[in-house]
Amino acid sequence: MEQRIDRIKKQLHSQSYKLTPQREATVRVLLENEKDHLSAEDVYLLVKEKAPEIGLATVYRTLELLNELEVVDKINFGDGVSRYDLRKEGADHFHHHLVCIECGSVDEIQDDLLGDVEKVVERDWQFKIKDHRLTFHGICYRCQDKHETKQDADHEITEVH
Ligand SMILES: [Zn+2]
Ligand SMILES: [Zn+2]
Ligand SMILES: [Zn+2]
Repeated sequence: MEQRIDRIKKQLHSQSYKLTPQREATVRVLLENEKDHLSAEDVYLLVKEKAPEIGLATVYRTLELLNELEVVDKINFGDGVSRYDLRKEGADHFHHHLVCIECGSVDEIQDDLLGDVEKVVERDWQFKIKDHRLTFHGICYRCQDKHETKQDADHEITEVH
């Protein structure tokens, strides 16, 4: 955790930003809840436990700054809520998400899996892929265990850029 904070601090410094105590509290909350996909309000409530004086606007500005510096990615799973997701260190492209339409859980796939698709897109559209967002909507294994029902899962690819 301390090493990652240190690297994020350096990343901010290289863009002439300081890791102020309030920014650091926000980064810590993101690291401690790395598996979750927190909204700005979720982050705010957790940061407030560490730094009671902090305001929502400050947390919001910090999240936007971290997004600009590509420390976090801003994602939306179709419910109109922006969520902040830490970028995995060393990953070229953003990880994929499995969103359960029954229980709302969000699982992550860290393997890119898109090598062949990317080759076709780059070849046939002469498009240089920098990143992508892939969200699968379906029923998670936990819910399948619950009812043992089978339904067709649909998927969508949003925002390839
Ligand atoms: Zn994620
Ligand atoms: Zn990829
Ligand atoms: Zn589920």
